[in-house]
Parts: sequence; structure tokens; C-alpha cells
Amino acid sequence: MNAARLFVVCALLSLGCACITNPETGKRSFNVVPEATELQLGIDAYSEVKTSTRESSNSRQRAIVQRVADRITAQTGVAYQWEVRLVESNEANAFCLPGGKIVVYTGILPVLESEAGLAFVMGHEVGHAIARHGGQRMSQTMIVQAGLQVADLSMGDSTQKPMIMGALGAGAQYGVLLPFSRGHESEADYMGMRYMARAGYDPHEAPKVWERMGRGSTQPPEWTSTHPSHENRAADLRDAMAEAMRFYEAAPKKYGLGEDL
Ligand SMILES: [Zn+2]
Repeated sequence: MNAARLFVVCALLSLGCACITNPETGKRSFNVVPEATELQLGIDAYSEVKTSTRESSNSRQRAIVQRVADRITAQTGVAYQWEVRLVESNEANAFCLPGGKIVVYTGILPVLESEAGLAFVMGHEVGHAIARHGGQRMSQTMIVQAGLQVADLSMGDSTQKPMIMGALGAGAQYGVLLPFSRGHESEADYMGMRYMARAGYDPHEAPKVWERMGRGSTQPPEWTSTHPSHENRAADLRDAMAEAMRFYEAAPKKYGLGEDL
């Protein structure tokens, strides 16, 4: 460990840095943002989303989105105040804020095609939130922009708002499109496929979602990054399929692909 790196680590420790453990994968990561701060930012970001977007008036799709959210979140074992909102928009987008507020844009439904496709993407987004990737991204941003302290993080600060919304995956409307890292994407993919399989949706649909996404002309903001490529992601999911199928076989209720969206 070189001196500069050691300095950063000491600085993180003095900020009260905790190593956090992903409850689904056991993977440990650095995160300097306290969970309480992250949860508060998630709550603030969600009220921001609610005031700036319109809920879909399609009651059939709203009901499907709600029941998929109920089934996926029940498999996480995480006691968030889960909530889901289907937003009317041509944009193909979805995200889950810290604390469990899930937002799905109607524009993503055609590429998801079925409840199973939705279950995978929702599981993926929920995975980012549970693994606390937003806090990790804020941690990285703060390290890069030296000087910004955790205690200064506030949605009330108009210069910080786009950065925070971006780090939480909700920055599209501010033009802040921060792709998650390859490692975060792979982790969320893996978590998403496990959740969907346990919830009773056929996990074979997970890699197919990435293949369809790769063919589409409009890429959802969260996935504008070309890395990892959609082909690699589909291949990685197929590698993990045997395990996901064991979860699916053990699921008390099976929905297959569910209803078409
Ligand atoms: Zn993602």
C-alpha cells in the first residue's frame, strides 16, 4: 500500500468509515456514507421524483408492477419501507433509491416484454440499493472531489442535488448519467436473477433481457455504459443459471414468464 493510498484509507477511517457486507452475496465493500445519511437522501430523492413525474394511469400495468415489486422485495430479506411507482414516460428507465423506493418508467416495459423481464430488472435495481452502490458511488465522488464531507451531503444544496441524484441512479432528468461500475453491474445482475428465481419467475428470461436491450436503439440511462457489454452480461448470467434454477425449482409458486406487459 503506497503512502497516498494509506492516507486515503486513514482519512476514511477517521470519517467513521465502515466496511459493509452485501447480505445477498457476502461481498464486503468500503462505504464512507453512513446508512442513515443514505436513507435520508433516498427519501428526499423520492419526494423529488414524485413531484417531478406523473404516475401512469394504466391500472393494469400499475397492478403488475406492484405485484412484481411485492414478490421481489419479499425475497430480499431486507426490511425497507418498500414502495413502487410506475411513471409515465417514453424514457426506458428504472431505479431503486436507498431505503427501497422503486421507480419504473413506462418506456422500459416494451423491452422487458413480460413480468419475468420486469422481475429481473426490478431485482437488479433493488440489488443496487441493498448492496448500497449509491453510497459507494457518493463515497468515490467525495474522494475525487476532495474536501466534500459526508456531513455536507444534502439535497437542499442545489449544486449537490444533481450529483446526489446521479449517484443514486435517478439523475437522468438532471442530465447526470452516471453508469455504475462493471463490478456493481455484475453484482446487481447476479442478485436480480437470484431474487427473480426465488420469487417464482423463470430466470432464463434474465440474459434475454440484456440481449433485447443490446438490440434496442434506446438504451436506458442506467445502462448507457458499454461496459460490461450486454453480451458479456448475458453470458455471465447463463454461467450462474444452474444455481438460479435450483432457486426456481424450490420456489413454492411458479409464474414462468407471468403476464405480458
Ligand atoms: Zn444497474
